[in-house]
Amino acid sequence: MPWQMVYTEFYFEEDHLPDMTPEKLREAILDYSRRRRRFGGKDKVRHFQFKPEVVAISMMFDNSYRHLKKISALIKKSNKKTVVVVGGIAATSSCATILKEQKNVDGVCFYEGEIPLLNLVNSEKMLDFLENDISWVTRKSLREGRLPQKSLIKNLDEVVNIDYSFVDVSNYAMREAFSPFADKIKQRKQFFLITSRGCPFNCVFCTHSGDKDKSMRYASVEAVIKHVKFLVSKYGMNVLTIYDDQILLNKERAKEIFRRLAKFNLKIEVPSGLSVAFMDEELIGLMRKAGMDTVFLAIESGSPYVLNEIIHKPLKIGMVKPVVQNLRKHGFWIQGFFVSGLPGERDEHRDETVKFIKEVGLDWSSFSLAAPLRGSDLFKICAENNYIQKGIKIGEFDFNKFIINTAEYSADYVVKKTYLMNLDVNFVNNYRMKNKEYKIAADAFRNVAARYPNHAFAYYYLSKALKVLKKEKESHKAMSKYKEILKNDVSWREYAEYFNLIYNKQ
Ligand code: SF4
Repeated sequence: MPWQMVYTEFYFEEDHLPDMTPEKLREAILDYSRRRRRFGGKDKVRHFQFKPEVVAISMMFDNSYRHLKKISALIKKSNKKTVVVVGGIAATSSCATILKEQKNVDGVCFYEGEIPLLNLVNSEKMLDFLENDISWVTRKSLREGRLPQKSLIKNLDEVVNIDYSFVDVSNYAMREAFSPFADKIKQRKQFFLITSRGCPFNCVFCTHSGDKDKSMRYASVEAVIKHVKFLVSKYGMNVLTIYDDQILLNKERAKEIFRRLAKFNLKIEVPSGLSVAFMDEELIGLMRKAGMDTVFLAIESGSPYVLNEIIHKPLKIGMVKPVVQNLRKHGFWIQGFFVSGLPGERDEHRDETVKFIKEVGLDWSSFSLAAPLRGSDLFKICAENNYIQKGIKIGEFDFNKFIINTAEYSADYVVKKTYLMNLDVNFVNNYRMKNKEYKIAADAFRNVAARYPNHAFAYYYLSKALKVLKKEKESHKAMSKYKEILKNDVSWREYAEYFNLIYNKQ
C-alpha cells in the first residue's frame, strides 16, 4: 500500500516532494485527472474535492525524515481532519522521536504496515483506533508506556498476487544490476516478487539486528508460480526480479521455485546478496536453468575475525571457494558484496579481504562503507563509543558520506583505503583479464564507464582489453579518454601513480 502512494507521488513527475507547494499540488492533481486511467478521466471538479481521510507516509531510511515535517504540515494545512500516519523500518526505529518532534503526525506504525493500515482505514473513528490498536504508536501510548506489537501477515500467499491493472506497466523497468551480461534483453518487461519475509541472522549493520523476532514466513511455491504465469500471460513479463532477503534459506523450496521457473524462459535477477552457505551444485544448476546468469554473494568480509566477531555472520570463509567454482562451471558472472569500515576492522583485515578475493577469483567485488542505520546494533555501538557525531538526529545522516571515525582510523582514511581495494581487485587485478577473457572484461569496463563517465581506470583497462581483441581504434579512443581524465583530475593521477599505471606526468 505505501508503494502505491510513493508511486502516485512519482507519477506527478515534474515536482517531487519536498518542493511541492499547494499550487503545484493543485496543478498536479489537475494533470493527473486528465489522464485516462482507472481513477482518471476528465472530472477535474471531483478531483479537487478529494479530501483524503488518511495519508500514510513511507519512511524506509533516516534521510526521508527531513521531508516529513513539510509533507505532514502540507497535508494538515489542506485539511486538518486528515489523519497522518508514518510507517517503514526507519519510522519504527524512531517512533518516539517522530511523535515528539512532528506535531502533524498522528501515529507511527510498528513494523509491517499492511494489516495495521487496512484496519485503520476500515475503522469507524480513525484517531480512536490509532490510540487503541497494538501496532500503532501514538503520543498517548507512549505516555501510558504501552508496548507496541507487530501485526504480521501470516499467509504470504495473500500478498503475492499484486494487482497492476491501474499502472501503465510499460513505463517501468529498472536498470539492471551491474553485470556484463546486462542489457541482453532490449525490451525489458520487468516485474518484482517477494516470496518470503524475515531473516534469522543478526548482521551488525542491518536494521534487522535490533529486532528479536527472527522468524521466517514463506509464500507457497504454488502461489508464486501462479503469479508468474499470470504476469507472463497478461503482460509478457520477460524479466523477473526477486527481492527476498533470504530466498535460499529453505533450500528445497528454493530449488522447487527455480525448477518451476525454468519453463517460462525468463531472465531472473536476485539483486539482494545470496547466502553462500545454502548453495549446492544442484541449486546452482537450477538457478542457471531458470534464467539467472549473474549472482551477488553476500560475503561481507574475507576475514573470519570480522565475519564472526564483528558482523556476527555465521559464514565459514572456506565455503566460498567451492561455491564460486561451481558457479563458474555454470557460466555465472560472480559478484561479491563486501562491507568496509566497521569499528574493530583493521587494515590487516581489509588486506585479508583483498587477498581472499584474488584467491577465490570473483569477477567483481562491490564495497559498501558501513552505514550506522538507526535500529541496527552498529548504530548503538557507534553512538555509545562516539564513533559518530554525538546526538546526531534523525534526518541528519548523509547517506552519501561515510561518518564513522574511530580512534584508529578516520572516516577519510577508510574511504580512501576502501576505494583502493576496489581499484585493486576490480581493475588492476581483474579476474577476467587475468584469465584472458577479454571480451567479458571489456563489457564489464564499458558498463562501468557508462555509469561513471569519469572513471579513468575503466577506460584504461577497457583500452587494454580492446587492444588484445584487436579493436585498435576503439582501444586508442579509450586510452585517450583515460589520459584526458588524468590531465584534469588530480585524484585519478594519484591513483594511477599508486598502481604504476602509465600516464604523462608533465
Ligand atoms: S544483512 Fe541480510 S542476512 Fe544479515 S541480518 Fe540483514 S537481512 Fe539478514
